[in-house]
Amino acid sequence: MERRNTIQKDLVLKTVQGLKRHLTAEEVYEFIKKDHPTIGKGTVYRNLGILAEEGAIRKVEVPDGPDRFDFTLKNHYHVECIRCGEVFDVDMDEVTDLNERIHDTHGMQFLNYDIFFKGICPVCRAKETEE
Ligand SMILES: [Zn+2]
Ligand SMILES: [Zn+2]
Repeated sequence: MERRNTIQKDLVLKTVQGLKRHLTAEEVYEFIKKDHPTIGKGTVYRNLGILAEEGAIRKVEVPDGPDRFDFTLKNHYHVECIRCGEVFDVDMDEVTDLNERIHDTHGMQFLNYDIFFKGICPVCRAKETEE
């Protein structure tokens, strides 16, 4: 049982790392299912949660969509395509002074932040010019 668990966890990890995209849990499951039709959706979802907790992958909480799982571990920001919902990394330096720009905290203790840009990806832009 223990060994089987390790194999499944490894499979989930390698899938997220190998596809080099920001995958939803559903996408990870659909991908693994092609080669491993007996794997359960619950198993994939559970292992994604464990791997994110362990810091082997990163969970990206998308404001208006399902969570995504990220192979890039260093702190970085994202852009979401407003047409297809795909999430991409933004190549920019880390913003370090955002907390200092807050004038009135309204009693909140600020812990951290995510930056999510909105955009239209090259694939969707190409589709739009075709039409
Ligand atoms: Zn798009
Ligand atoms: Zn990312």
